[in-house]
Amino acid sequence: MARYIFVTGGVVSSLGKGLTSASLAYLLKSQGYKVRVRKMDPYLNVDPGTMSPFQHGEVFVTDDGAETDLDLGHYERFTNISAKKSDNITTGKIYSDIILKERKGKYLGKTVQVIPHVTDRIKEFISGDIVNEDFVICEIGGTVGDIESLPFIEAIRQFSNDHGKNKTLFIHLTLVPFLKSSDEIKTKPTQHSVKELRGLGIQPDIVICRSQKSIPIDQRKKISLFCNVAIENVIETVDVRTIYEAPISFYKEKLDKQVLKYFNIKAKKRVNLLPWKKITKTILNKRKIINIAIIGKYVNLKDAYKSLDEALIHGGLKNNVKVNLIRIESDNLQANQVKKILRNVSGILIPGGFGKRGTEGKISAINYARKYKIPFLGICFGMQMAIIEFARNVLKIKKAGSSELDRKCYPVIGLLNEWNKNGKLIKGTDVNLGGTMRLGLYEAKLRHNSLIQKIYKTKSINERHRHRYEVNINLKDKFESKGMIFSGISPDGKLPEIIELNNHPWFIGVQFHPEFKSRPLSPHPLFSSFIKAAKVY
Ligand code: GLN
Repeated sequence: MARYIFVTGGVVSSLGKGLTSASLAYLLKSQGYKVRVRKMDPYLNVDPGTMSPFQHGEVFVTDDGAETDLDLGHYERFTNISAKKSDNITTGKIYSDIILKERKGKYLGKTVQVIPHVTDRIKEFISGDIVNEDFVICEIGGTVGDIESLPFIEAIRQFSNDHGKNKTLFIHLTLVPFLKSSDEIKTKPTQHSVKELRGLGIQPDIVICRSQKSIPIDQRKKISLFCNVAIENVIETVDVRTIYEAPISFYKEKLDKQVLKYFNIKAKKRVNLLPWKKITKTILNKRKIINIAIIGKYVNLKDAYKSLDEALIHGGLKNNVKVNLIRIESDNLQANQVKKILRNVSGILIPGGFGKRGTEGKISAINYARKYKIPFLGICFGMQMAIIEFARNVLKIKKAGSSELDRKCYPVIGLLNEWNKNGKLIKGTDVNLGGTMRLGLYEAKLRHNSLIQKIYKTKSINERHRHRYEVNINLKDKFESKGMIFSGISPDGKLPEIIELNNHPWFIGVQFHPEFKSRPLSPHPLFSSFIKAAKVY
């Protein structure tokens, strides 16, 4: 049986449970173990797919088409293991499964209750779809003490009771604040948080203390004493200079060693921290700076384009440049100011998006990138906007638009009603918004001798999708006669996947989200090539 590690958080949210779980996963994997990382989210949405990025940050999409929490992106980037649908669950999903089952009479007349029915369903999630993993790391979203997370805490308590302490380990991550006025490190919030957790029946085995400063031995002893945790299992995590330094920092603090010791097992191989050391060094080195503009609707929220920001950094790593992201709110981008605002950028990126607000600003920026031959990458909505810009200004279809934004336009982008997935016909809908888009991995065939084929160096690719609308393939010849090439198309020839411009050094639009597959240890070719083009611009 796999060993289960549960990661809870206390005191405040956003302490970096995701990064902690991802770093631990890397350390264990690097020592020869098979690892899986999962996330349980206590909110009532069935998945984050319908949530605004303002609420929840980016929606991360898996190969198998699940719309998940952005922490799954961290897990993938650190472990290089593709997450699956079965790695993320929410309270909403649990309840919807239970209610469906109840309506079918599957509970055989019983009263359906939080304990045992909800907790059983959570336990099913925790150990479901596990093959031969040595470790399953389960992160519990939210903060201990929240009403919403109670069933999850109860379920992991039961899980440990069912399977024994030798198969389960509890890690609690808390904040240890530093008070400047009194020049003191305070352990009380941690004590209270652990007390809360113990009140719910869980004694943490390891306490990880997030702190601005290194925690002196006296305070560590205090945490050990009051929280009933062995002193060597009080582990500090001091703010790192780049997130890619986190595995190094946790290794120095012996987190992995303590975990292995707890389970009474030894590392199968020596941990390899070299890649992270190399990345950290490159990131911190003073290098040439390349300005890339990201023009979108959610630019003020740091996590709204998490994977994208990371993918651009990876592209910079590959080219030994530092990518400076200039976030521009598309709503504020007036056509007559575009030139001034984008004067100092070497590349323009329009990310995925939904809805009308800010679209004209995006279209103006694309127009500028096309005319002034600035490297341009349009992702999903960004590609759709590039199609509209070209249709309006080159093909002179003045009313060109997307049926998502304007029902009366000339729809160069239209609602997708049905499409093919591995030979199976899938029906789309815009009635139910959750989970009904073209989601997950789809193949695209690349045109011979196109820029995109030179970048990927292959004839066909598989990338992750998340959209409801599609470029109208019937306009292909019209676009191509004026120099916009449909250089990637779905295998059935019906869905344009990639566009590029003939008389432009680097202008590419992709209907998918390449950022989800970029990893620091293997930067995505599209981002590497984009940054390379920006470097010479
Ligand atoms: N709103 C567009 C669509 O649904 C694009 C979505 C996206 O950018 N992810 O097709």
